[in-house]
Amino acid sequence: MKTLYFDHAATTPLDKRVKEAMDRDRTDALLNPSSIHRFGQTAGAVMDKAREAVSASLGAEFRSTIFTSGATEANNLVLRGSLKAFYRSFRSEAMLPPRIIVSGIEHDSIFHTANDIGEEGAEVFFISAEKNGTVSHKKVIEAINERTILVSVMTVNNETGAVQPIAEIGKAIRDMRGEGLYPIFHTDAAQAYRYIDCRLDTLHADIVTVSGHKIGGPRGVGALAMKSVGKYGMGKAIHPIITGGGQEFGMRSGTENVAAIFGFREAVKLAEKEREKNIKNVSGVKEVFWKELKKAFPKAMINGPTEKEWAKKSSPHILNIWLPGHNSAELLMKCDMAGIAVSYGSACGAKSFKPSHVLESMGLPDKRVKESVRISFGPGNTVAEAKEGVKRMADFL
Ligand code: PMP
Repeated sequence: MKTLYFDHAATTPLDKRVKEAMDRDRTDALLNPSSIHRFGQTAGAVMDKAREAVSASLGAEFRSTIFTSGATEANNLVLRGSLKAFYRSFRSEAMLPPRIIVSGIEHDSIFHTANDIGEEGAEVFFISAEKNGTVSHKKVIEAINERTILVSVMTVNNETGAVQPIAEIGKAIRDMRGEGLYPIFHTDAAQAYRYIDCRLDTLHADIVTVSGHKIGGPRGVGALAMKSVGKYGMGKAIHPIITGGGQEFGMRSGTENVAAIFGFREAVKLAEKEREKNIKNVSGVKEVFWKELKKAFPKAMINGPTEKEWAKKSSPHILNIWLPGHNSAELLMKCDMAGIAVSYGSACGAKSFKPSHVLESMGLPDKRVKESVRISFGPGNTVAEAKEGVKRMADFL
């Protein structure tokens, strides 16, 4: 029995063309890009090319595109680093704690980090989601006060696929901010990068987070990209949280994982080239899966944007469904036994089976939260697989 991999939001398989390019170019043999000798120069040139490609695809400045170990680290750098930068520059003037605004549906790497810096004295303001899983841009803007230094709202939610009104929030923040530095606007685009144009100007964001393993690249690599905020560069907005040898323009010390960064560049090139094709194919698979599932189990309901809203408000690859009467943990086990890999919300928190803070933030009742699963597709899936998946699920629904 062929296993059906419907968990692309957790991680995507390494695209075989990326792997081939990594093997062909002998990336395993690359040495330390900071070394002065010829081996260092070779690795440095690979890094430069990768940085050029990633910064171009995000419309960011070359020197403000920082490679990290993934989106989690990039998000930590934004939240902790912006607070650190603020305290370094303005602490004496600050009468009251600085405010950081995040949505209530952020990935754990923002959600828990926000809670953590809240413990350290920042005022963290969470914005709950609407019933369809989107965050109201008006609510975000209304929460901004003169103490707000950072607003962070993700581009696509990793549990429901809901596309957030990033450009609306970004435009309003730019109007409010004028020539000033604050508030800075960040978006975690880890789930969006494959399917949405994430250039900073398109999103009207100042900083964007992306990750290699959500776009067919290697795990353990990601990037943070930024444009100047008014007249201020990245150094003013964010201070490093990992210090040491001063790699990545001083923003993230540690010898870079050049092989993974090379693979990331290949994946970015493919994601850009194949975006339209991927949108069409993957949304086709999702539509068929949902249509068939509804026929097999009419009580199923979508958590997130409704089918009518899909074209504008839902990423092609994620579907979160409520299957009344079926506990999530049991569903995952039964799916696994039937050869279908799906998950319950975020993979990072999946093993704990904590109720999803994302579904809770949307105001869904407890019972529904505990009877839901996330199905997420990728370019490798086919319509036949979607039909086969529903057929297998129908046996235990
Ligand atoms: N943000 C979002 C929206 C994600 O979906 C994920 C991965 N689940 C991350 C951040 C964390 O990414 P990484 O695994 O690269 O640290």
